[in-house]
Amino acid sequence: MPDNENICSGGRAAGSAPQSRVTKDMDDKAFGHALCGWFEENGRPLPWRRCYTPYRVWVSEIMAQQTQMSRVVEYFNRWMERFPDVDALARAHEDEVLRAWEGLGYYSRARNLHRAARLVSEQGQFPDTYKGVLALPGVGPYTAGAIMSVAFNQPCTAVDANVERVFSRVYDLDKPVKQAATHAFIEDRALALIPEGRARCFNQALMELGALVCTPKSPDCPSCPVLEHCRSRLLGLEAERPVPGKKQQTVYVNVATGALVHRGRVYIQKRRPDDVWPGLWEFPGGGIEDGETPEQAVVREYVEETGVDVVPLHKCGVVKYSYTKFRVTLHCFYLRYANGAQKPACNEAVEGRFVAVGELDDFAFPAGHRRFIGLLREDHIFADLLGSC
Ligand code: SF4
Repeated sequence: MPDNENICSGGRAAGSAPQSRVTKDMDDKAFGHALCGWFEENGRPLPWRRCYTPYRVWVSEIMAQQTQMSRVVEYFNRWMERFPDVDALARAHEDEVLRAWEGLGYYSRARNLHRAARLVSEQGQFPDTYKGVLALPGVGPYTAGAIMSVAFNQPCTAVDANVERVFSRVYDLDKPVKQAATHAFIEDRALALIPEGRARCFNQALMELGALVCTPKSPDCPSCPVLEHCRSRLLGLEAERPVPGKKQQTVYVNVATGALVHRGRVYIQKRRPDDVWPGLWEFPGGGIEDGETPEQAVVREYVEETGVDVVPLHKCGVVKYSYTKFRVTLHCFYLRYANGAQKPACNEAVEGRFVAVGELDDFAFPAGHRRFIGLLREDHIFADLLGSC
């Protein structure tokens, strides 16, 4: 460990007990070398692996949270063209950053990247200690460990879901990996197994093994570089690891929204900083209450959010999407003023404006509303309305 500032925080409290069902010690050195050797031969040529600058590693790690790798690669390449370094990101307007992030979800990640880029730019350099990296907005112990190990090759752990799964199988852990003692044991082992001077390779290799070989369903054990160290495989229990934790309950939500058409433009508003998806744009709307039809809900929501009376002209479709535990059904309408034009108020938004349909690409929208825009662009009824309202 180079200095105290670089000590990773993920280690378990002394005395917490591992739940491994096999007591034979594995050969730590052999494990690390087998895994690193495999990664050097089989690691995917991901764009941030071409050159491990802290900025590139940081962006890739934040993007990769909760996102499929193929999407991360696409967004990462676009992001680097637009914001090639931390100063370029720091100079950008928040709307531009959110627009570049649109489609990845969990927008607080983009806002935190932006805030952190401004801090780093002010400080003049990216922090190079665990403590310094952990202090950046949006960076938790996992991300700090990933940045320190991958960008700076420092011996820090980066235990994500892939690593948890691999260790639950290698050590045949019979408790859910999120339980404190189990997680602490995994952190301990993940640190102890790092071969000297090879943190960058080892941590990426663990994640890659979980992504490519030790997959959630049907792990490809015959191709696994650590097969001979794997206790659950030895016991024929790999399909039963990791032990599942408590499942999050799914919540189904019905929502109505509408595009108010006036003089060939549509009304949009920007969400408040304390709202879900702060800073993103949307069409006004909200949850359908008990006993309401979607049409009644969109009319009520417009009055509450903008003070404007509207009339639904046409239902253009239903969009279904998910985020976190929510499964949303979004009923989408075209609307016109009920009693002549009125200036919409911003009762639940920071800003509102009428924009041409072609301008909608300049604003960041949540996924459901972006799909609504796709629907209205393809709809000849909407095109007719634009000309007549
Ligand atoms: Fe995973 Fe199979 Fe390798 Fe064990 S042997 S770590 S279960 S892929």
